Amino acid sequence: RIVVLGSLNMDLVLRVPHAPEAGETLQGHSIHTVPGGKGGNQAVSCARQGAAVSLLGRVGADDYGQALRAALTRDGIDHGGVQTDAQEPTGVALVMVDDAAQNRIVVIAGANARVEVDAHDPELAQRLQHAAFLVAQFETPLAQVVTAAALAHRIGCKVMLNPSPAQALPAQLWPLLDTLVVNEVEARLLSGRVADTPAEAAKAACALRARGVARVVVTLGAGGAVAADTQGCRHHPALAVTAVDTTAAGDTFLGALAVTLADGQSFDAAVRHGIRAAALCVTQVGAQPSIPDRDAVLRSALP
Ligand code: ADP
Repeated sequence: RIVVLGSLNMDLVLRVPHAPEAGETLQGHSIHTVPGGKGGNQAVSCARQGAAVSLLGRVGADDYGQALRAALTRDGIDHGGVQTDAQEPTGVALVMVDDAAQNRIVVIAGANARVEVDAHDPELAQRLQHAAFLVAQFETPLAQVVTAAALAHRIGCKVMLNPSPAQALPAQLWPLLDTLVVNEVEARLLSGRVADTPAEAAKAACALRARGVARVVVTLGAGGAVAADTQGCRHHPALAVTAVDTTAAGDTFLGALAVTLADGQSFDAAVRHGIRAAALCVTQVGAQPSIPDRDAVLRSALP
């Protein structure tokens, strides 16, 4: 089992010829409403890799909230730990994609900003007791992430953090972490080092490991990923694919990594599985619809 604490958004994806200027009214091509949010995406990635998943989060008492819950149910995800906010609406991301495939995104956190983690909740303790990992990101309030991580750590459930959007970690969070998964931007913010080549990312990963984290992954987009643990640093190249939309690539990677580690496989095998899953994700448009299942990833690994 994997427990995910994180954001749930409805993504409103507008296809437009170009981004509108101030005062301009533009005829767009299309609109799609697609379930998203890092917490939801990572939970879906874990579930499609075959794990039992419990999600902790918060939606509004509105249609988007219901639609997001229905999508989680379709993926077999336990959303008993997703709260309903009586005042704030469900989180929304307005994603504008122009003809040059450039994104412009506005996120309204809504109910995500009011997630509450109760350190004395027996149901939460029970979920964590049966979980290999607590997975968290930074689209929900930091204080709640720290509370959940502290509880997981006390119970003996490993904590995997993806500090995205990039933000410094509170000092008390570092000793609670087992695995840290960062992209180039997050690696740079947390380590103070540029991390845009495998060699630079390896140095950044070592600096982050020195904070007491057992395993660090720095993802490098089309450059693959660097994995660092007690054995040192290894670079794993990405698969050569034609990327059409990299939305949820990092979330797909993280879910596949977490589930493979929870299955008892090696760190390097888990990173390679994450890379294969993310490669399939970037060849499809949208957040959750583009996250592959385990069979698809295993098929893609065949020669
Ligand atoms: P994030 O989306 O969190 O910024 P990255 O862009 O580093 O994360 O992507 C995460 C992983 O997705 C990478 O480590 C890589 O394996 C895969 N990936 C991303 N972009 C591509 C691409 N253009 N081609 C192949 N794989 C990709």
